Amino acid sequence: MNEIYNFSAGPATLADTVLKTAQEELLNYKGSGMSVLEISHRSALYTEINETAQNLMRELLNIPDGYQVLFLQGGASQQFAMVPMNLSKNKKFDYIETGSFSKKAIAEAKNFGDVTVVASSSDKNYTYIPKISDIEFSKDADYIHITSNNTIFGTKFYEYPEVEGVELVADMSSNILSEPLDVSKFGIIYAGAQKNLGPSGVTVVIVKDELLDVNENVANIFKYKSHAVASSAYNTPPVYSIYILKLTLEYIKSLGGVEAVNKLNVEKAGMLYDYLDNSDFYTNSVEVESRSIMNVVFTTPSKELDAEFVKGAEEIGLKFLKGHRSVGGMRASIYNAMPKAGIIKLIDYMDQFAKENGGK
Ligand code: PMP
Repeated sequence: MNEIYNFSAGPATLADTVLKTAQEELLNYKGSGMSVLEISHRSALYTEINETAQNLMRELLNIPDGYQVLFLQGGASQQFAMVPMNLSKNKKFDYIETGSFSKKAIAEAKNFGDVTVVASSSDKNYTYIPKISDIEFSKDADYIHITSNNTIFGTKFYEYPEVEGVELVADMSSNILSEPLDVSKFGIIYAGAQKNLGPSGVTVVIVKDELLDVNENVANIFKYKSHAVASSAYNTPPVYSIYILKLTLEYIKSLGGVEAVNKLNVEKAGMLYDYLDNSDFYTNSVEVESRSIMNVVFTTPSKELDAEFVKGAEEIGLKFLKGHRSVGGMRASIYNAMPKAGIIKLIDYMDQFAKENGGK
């Protein structure tokens, strides 16, 4: 059978070792005779999973004291609402618009205050990240929101805004734990787990203590403080998703942590971009300085060839390479768990396909 490589944007490929451990432990977790799927979130068995996962997040991202690590539900989309709900004081929010998910975040924030879109790359179909030094930020905004990696358009921020007295909030759903990060620059970082961290169902939120209780008028279930006080067990958490998150974090640690993983990510993405840059057949229209190392987008010379490319790829085990419907073409999502062998196989196929269809 062909080896399968899953290039899905999310839920995305998980490391084989993570899945194997989950399989081994499925029916009898740590000699308990029970599955993680069926244990109480108040049990010592689960409390240990929850604490280990929180501690590993802290360790891997070097999270300083004064921050909470929360495991919430509702996806990154729920954070689009929870961020403005919880942080609104002046009811003024600055957003940088860099693609579909930041547009959704903006639309949601408008329900809670005045949104200023301080910069947008919509003029070039989101193929670049606006230069931070060109942006005029509001002095009295409650926060600035960015989408650090744009899953659909294949762009990423390489520098972050810094405005005195204004919190920085980042949706890191598609690049958290892919590179080292100075968490102290951020008020809130949030990420749906289903790309780099584990399965869907859990969203990781890293939030500064001072921001837990800015706005009192928030329903308890949506208040960061409720979840922080209860150590992410305010109500029944998605225990199995958090368990797989824990296994994934252990796996990242075993590889040498975020720096080691980043080195590999840069290498994997570099192989693909090098190939694209030297190709007379494929195009990547993202500005070089804004290229994502997680989502690499490209097209062939025509829509018909794009469709053929995807079909042929599926047949040999290169799965889910079709680009997002709003962009077309192809997208290779190459998160932490994508092995280098997957990139090599993809490039081999790209080369063969190009030669068969008029490229060099
Ligand atoms: N932000 C980004 C950058 C994403 O890639 C996604 C989902 N792919 C979302 C937000 C939405 O996440 P969710 O489906 O978990 O709500």
